[in-house]
Amino acid sequence: QAKMNGGGHYQFFTTEINDAISRKMMLETGLRKAVEREEIEIYYQPQVDVTTGNVNSFEALVRWNHPELGLIPPLDFIPLAEETKLIIPIGEWILSESCRQFLVWTEQGHSLKHISVNISAVQFQEPDFPQMVVKVIKDTGINPEHLDLELTESVIQNPDIAIPFMHQLKAMGVRLSLDDFGTGYSSLSYLKEFPLDTLKIDKSFTQTVLESEKDQAVVDTIIHMALKLNLNVIAEGVETDGQLQYLLGQKCHQYQGYLYSAPIPKEEIEGLLHKKRGWTIT
Ligand code: C2E
Ligand code: MG
Ligand code: MG
Ligand code: MG
Repeated sequence: QAKMNGGGHYQFFTTEINDAISRKMMLETGLRKAVEREEIEIYYQPQVDVTTGNVNSFEALVRWNHPELGLIPPLDFIPLAEETKLIIPIGEWILSESCRQFLVWTEQGHSLKHISVNISAVQFQEPDFPQMVVKVIKDTGINPEHLDLELTESVIQNPDIAIPFMHQLKAMGVRLSLDDFGTGYSSLSYLKEFPLDTLKIDKSFTQTVLESEKDQAVVDTIIHMALKLNLNVIAEGVETDGQLQYLLGQKCHQYQGYLYSAPIPKEEIEGLLHKKRGWTIT
């Protein structure tokens, strides 16, 4: 009896591992073809001015529209894309598609400051990363000042590469943001060395800012530090009016969050922009 049970468990265990391995292999095979099959989709989330409520810019957030599994969020396939280096071609596609979309909106007459695109640390360590950005800027015709690259503190793993790259990009006029600020292991001295334009407060702090005195201290400190360092500051993950009022009181510049809009497909952004233009006319 015991032996049978043990056998049963063993069987179950290996099936589970096999399932995990075959799911991963299936995802990897699918990911290799995802771009050409047009399964990679970009959603856009408005970046909103805290004091005026105007939409200044958008962040591009990728999704994989898998034929069998449906819409896969980035955290479920970006790590695999990084591991397999598929993030290099996929990331280049995301960058150029986001720039093209930004130009479509500005050509429609919407005045937007920039488009923000997330860059993985794996992309940022490729020796030809700055040349790739130059190529995308040339091919799409975007003004480099309208492009904002979001980096996380993980790029600091390799500061000898990252810092010269950041200076090259700044020299071209590209904007740089530090994403998920406060969650990594960065030393504050890097804030002086990185030629940044923007700090993004991680949503883990924003979301509990009204409940936790400690998170309040973190949020206040990041905002005040950003203001002192002459950096733009954006709070991520704003879901309630109370959180927004708090940020207004602390003089945070911009916010993103479900309170205004979740990330949405480009077709829905157009509706939102038309609505916004309607408001400014009346
Ligand atoms: P992130 O860049 O920090 O993006 C913010 C995440 O917070 C997004 O999740 C967004 O949908 C979510 N979010 C926005 N507002 C709210 C809110 O009010 N409440 C809550 N609970 N969440 C909110 P998403 O789209 O699932 O992306 C997760 C992460 O995946 C991103 O974090 C970024 O690190 C990565 N990612 C997304 N797109 C790309 C990409 O094109 N390239 C790379 N390398 N990474 C990407
Ligand atoms: Mg981001
Ligand atoms: Mg973030
Ligand atoms: Mg985040």
